Amino acid sequence: MGYLKDLGEIYLAANYKRLPVAFVRGKGSRLYDEEGREYLDFCAGIAVCALGHAPAPVVEAVCSQAEKLIHVSNLYWTEPQAKLAQLLCTHSFAEKVFFCNSGAEAVEAALKLARRYAWKNFGPEKYEIVALENSFHGRTYGALSATGQSLYWQGFEPLVPGFRHVPPNDLKALEGAVSEKTCAILLEPILGEGGVIPLTREFLATARRLADEKKALLIFDEIQTGIGRTGKLFAYEHYEIEPDAMTLAKGLAGGLPLGALLARAEVMAALEPGTHASTFGGNPVCCAAAYAVLKTILKEDFLKEVTLKGRSLAQRLQSLQEDFPELVKEVRGLGLMWGMELSVPAGPVFQYLFEKKRILVTCIKDRILRFTPPLIIAYREIDALYEALKEALKNYPIKEVKNA
Ligand SMILES: *Cc1c(COP(=O)(O)O)cnc(C)c1O
Repeated sequence: MGYLKDLGEIYLAANYKRLPVAFVRGKGSRLYDEEGREYLDFCAGIAVCALGHAPAPVVEAVCSQAEKLIHVSNLYWTEPQAKLAQLLCTHSFAEKVFFCNSGAEAVEAALKLARRYAWKNFGPEKYEIVALENSFHGRTYGALSATGQSLYWQGFEPLVPGFRHVPPNDLKALEGAVSEKTCAILLEPILGEGGVIPLTREFLATARRLADEKKALLIFDEIQTGIGRTGKLFAYEHYEIEPDAMTLAKGLAGGLPLGALLARAEVMAALEPGTHASTFGGNPVCCAAAYAVLKTILKEDFLKEVTLKGRSLAQRLQSLQEDFPELVKEVRGLGLMWGMELSVPAGPVFQYLFEKKRILVTCIKDRILRFTPPLIIAYREIDALYEALKEALKNYPIKEVKNA
């Protein structure tokens, strides 16, 4: 290890804090570095590799589509895009889809749709967007302005005007913020980057009611919670509360860049010809990959398995909380999206997992370990994580951590 890191340090922007490892291939829930060392992946490319690494259905779809047609732009129709849109609509509340290339772009499209819809139907005074403190919606200016974490704003202000933020699960604050001026309420059903914070059913029901009363759109950002992550195809299905629009990305194309904005037809009608566009959006190769991902997830028992494995992971994490009450403050999540909040810095545990056990997880806000494994993770791999976490917590604070 060294050459790729050295090269990257010379030529790449230093905007990422990277671990000292370069991966060259992967299979299932395993990744392999330059020296052939194996890592167990509970990060999955930040909740992206839904079917794991090099999944056969995606590899096959990508290769065969690349041989046929890679790109033509949205001046024309293509089969993968049309078929994927149909599949997404068949299995959700939505009737129309706009494709783009990333989560932030899907959020941008949602924000533009909300403003345009309100402008067209109710006039120019209805432009405010209510979002949540601690939310994360992406790094472009609109998405950044929606993001309720001032840390991400530092040095980039002024932001896009018209955003208000309320604390998650605070019904009173939400009621106070939504008014006749509100064109949309934007929420992640489970806040992801904010620390794996599930919203209550009551909060979502209140958001739905307020949106209806004030003729605002209810938009769910399911970029992280969608595509089977929580044990249902979309997290909103757990709550039985439907949004008017929804953003998707991350797991959608199993690792290829694809974002989507889904909406009811009457709402999406606000995006008339010329109002919004993306050159690469809905690229045939990415759409073919996403079609293969969805077909796999929609197979009988796939989501049932995600739920069962999620339960197994949850039980393991909860038993750690019982065994180490002075270290583990809270365990939160749904399906295969879990956060373990420590009452001490999580860095030593994270380092122990990485260096001693070669297990990849993510660490958010210094104290929260997040687990978003591939949806095909095996029970024995969940056990391996549990054993490693137990060891790390037993030895906390871990003194000497050096390469195993
Ligand atoms: C990751 C994420 C985004 C941003 O997606 P990018 O593809 O990084 O732009 C937006 N919203 C949520 C909920 C996310 O988890």
